[in-house]
Order: sequence, then structure tokens, then C-alpha cells
Amino acid sequence: MTDCIFCKIGTGIIPAARVYEDKTVMAFLDINPAAKGHTLVIPKNHYEKLSQIPEGELSLLMHGVQQVAKQMEKTLKPEGMNILVNVSKAAGQEVPHIHVHVIPRKQGDKVDLGWDHEQYEAGEIEIFKQKLVTRM
Ligand code: AMP
Ligand code: ZN
Repeated sequence: MTDCIFCKIGTGIIPAARVYEDKTVMAFLDINPAAKGHTLVIPKNHYEKLSQIPEGELSLLMHGVQQVAKQMEKTLKPEGMNILVNVSKAAGQEVPHIHVHVIPRKQGDKVDLGWDHEQYEAGEIEIFKQKLVTRM
């Protein structure tokens, strides 16, 4: 996509602090990190949502995520990591090119990903199960 910032980073038109690259995947540091070392992993091809990326490319994307996580473990030695994808505006996706956040964590850091918990009403969990169960 011509005016997608992450496509431009993927092709090198826009510079980024690149930390991993292979034929289909690239990873670079988030310029506005939740914690120092916060990395974004993208497919070089443009897809907006997780549901749109072909399975093969999704596997390669997750391979890239694992490479980034391994290197992060080795060098930053975080106590933990959050690995997450925001899908669509309502979930906080600002850049409409799928990307996986890899965020290094330490006990007591200032990263806030918390949410309040909802409660199912009686019988409701079964209704959601029926809607979400996937039949192959
Ligand atoms: P999301 O809210 O899941 O779409 O995350 C988008 C992320 O991209 C944010 O954390 C931004 O800080 C980051 N970001 C936006 N533009 C750039 C850029 N040019 N280089 C690196 N990170 C960027
Ligand atoms: Zn794009």
C-alpha cells in the first residue's frame, strides 16, 4: 500500500531502527516505546488484520517474533515480555498494517496493559462458547 508507513519502513523508504529482517518479515524499535527495547514485528506485505494474513506468512511472522524474543531475552534479560497484537481502532490499532508488539517487562515497571474484568451472567458463558467454538 503506497501511503502505509509500515510498508514504507518494510521497503526502507522510511528509516527505522531495524533489529531483524528476513525475506518476508522485518522488526524495528517502536519510536514511542512502552518500555525501552519495545519492538514491532511486521510482515513486509500489507495486511491490516490478523484474519487477513495467509497462514504461511503468519507462521513466518511468528518465527520473526520468536527470533526477536530470543535476542531480547539474551541481551536485555527482561523478567518477562508482553507479545500482543491490536486489531482495529476499537482495540487500539493506530497503524493499519498488522504488527506484533514485543515489550520487555520488569517487576514494577510503568507499562500498563491492565483491564477490569467482566462477569458472565448465569448461562452466558455457554452462549459465548457456542458462538466462538471453531469447527475444523
Ligand atoms: P498500534 O497502536 O498497535 O497500531 O501500534 C502502533 C505503534 O507504532 C505505536 O506504538 C507507535 O509508537 C509505533 N510507530 C508509529 N510510527 C512509527 C515509526 N515510524 N517507527 C517506529 N514505530 C512507529
Ligand atoms: Zn502497509
